[in-house]
Amino acid sequence: MTQIINSINQANESIKQYRLLPLSSSESLALTDIENTIKQYSKNIDTVHILSLENTPIAAIDDAVKIDDAHALRGFTILDTEISRQLSEKSDNVTRALTLVKQVIPLSKWVSIFAIIFTMGALIVLIHFYIILPISKISKVMLQLAGNKLDVDTDIFQSRNEIGQMAKTISVFKNNMIRQKQSEHELIDAMSAIEKEELFISSILNAVRDGIITINSKGIIEVFNPGAEDIFGYNKVEVVGKNVSMLMNKENADSHDAYLERYLKGDSTRDQRKAMKQMAVRKNGETFPVEITLNSVKIDDEIKFTGMVRDITEREVWEEKIKYLAMTDALTGLANRNQFNKRFLEILQHSQRFNTLFSLLLIDLDKFKPVNDTYGHQVGDILLQKIAEILIASCREVDTIARLGGDEFTILLNGINNTDEAATIADRILGQLTQPLIIENHTIQVGVSIGISCFPDDSSDIEELTRMADEALYASKQEGRNTYRYYSELSD
Ligand code: GH3
Ligand code: MG
Repeated sequence: MTQIINSINQANESIKQYRLLPLSSSESLALTDIENTIKQYSKNIDTVHILSLENTPIAAIDDAVKIDDAHALRGFTILDTEISRQLSEKSDNVTRALTLVKQVIPLSKWVSIFAIIFTMGALIVLIHFYIILPISKISKVMLQLAGNKLDVDTDIFQSRNEIGQMAKTISVFKNNMIRQKQSEHELIDAMSAIEKEELFISSILNAVRDGIITINSKGIIEVFNPGAEDIFGYNKVEVVGKNVSMLMNKENADSHDAYLERYLKGDSTRDQRKAMKQMAVRKNGETFPVEITLNSVKIDDEIKFTGMVRDITEREVWEEKIKYLAMTDALTGLANRNQFNKRFLEILQHSQRFNTLFSLLLIDLDKFKPVNDTYGHQVGDILLQKIAEILIASCREVDTIARLGGDEFTILLNGINNTDEAATIADRILGQLTQPLIIENHTIQVGVSIGISCFPDDSSDIEELTRMADEALYASKQEGRNTYRYYSELSD
């Protein structure tokens, strides 16, 4: 019994599932017929069960629950037919599809080939236009940039893809190159300016005859120009790196380092701008005078000194010569009026300070004019030179003997103990001239007249003393010449 109920349930479930499929109307009708028949069987099951329990014979049970299953059978036949039809239809469809596929395959092969070719062509075109062409452009630009062609246009692609990024990178690279070039140019300009300046400075250093020596704050020589080489006799390699004191005499060398220290501490009072005279030493050991002008400059926190050194050996000789000429009588070599005036003032000041005496002797040759007239001017000159020698021989070394002009001489006797010493000198001169002088085979007899004034007895004023000696000289002339007179002894 249970088995029958299960079979009915299974049948109902199958019909339910079938109904879920898309059904034709005949299928739906067939299913309904089958369902109705199964429903009748379900209804009769209990009846069959009861009759069987009552031991009712099978034929009687069968009659009691007799069911017309013709509809269900017809329904099965319809379903069967329908299924067969659908299968055949699907089979046809598949066959048609297969036939179509079969027909389409060669065509699709060509379509595929064409598609592949087209895709490849398109790819090639795309690769050419979007990759190869841009890359070749970029390479060209890079080549130009590598060749330093900075005016090349790098704004070639604006796209945001990798190529665009590459182009952008190149643009940045170009701008960096331009900036680098600019700074290189600026550097070159600056360098060439420095080089020009250095060339200019070295041309100056080479051109000047003066020595230019630069030392550092420790006195070590850093620059030694050709002028300095000429002056000191050293080649620059022999002195650069050594202490500048090697160019100085011992006295200056000993004090130089201490001076630098004082200067660096700010303790030096020396005005560096003022040219100073100093003794220097050449390589051969010769000591000579130099004039030095100093200049200091602070470079990178270190003070460097540049000294302009001028060898003034020759200048000093000339200065001495000029001084000598300016102060000396060219004919006799005695002091001239300039030197006489200078010495007169010095002696006066010294005598005033130390309360010493001095006398002024004014000497004039007697009748000198006729000598000129008789023997000529040249003989007169020689005579003047002879007189100068006599005066020198008659005086002490400390005395000042001068020729003031013409046949007029003067003597300053300084540091005398008394005024009588002037008379002693005057007598000595006059005594020398008692003998005739032989000049160019001419025997010439001359005499001198002398006037004497004394400091401080007669006056303490130069003008006064001169005037007084002059008056005393005049008195000598008046009194017959070849004699001397003290101003103090003149009668009013
Ligand atoms: P007095 O006895 O009165 O002194 O007369 P004097 O003949 O010596 O002549 P005075 O002293 O009046 O004149 C000096 C002369 O010396 C005048 C000039 O002819 C001469 N004289 C001046 N300078 C020079 C010179 O440099 N060389 C020579 N040879 N003669 C000079
Ligand atoms: Mg005279």
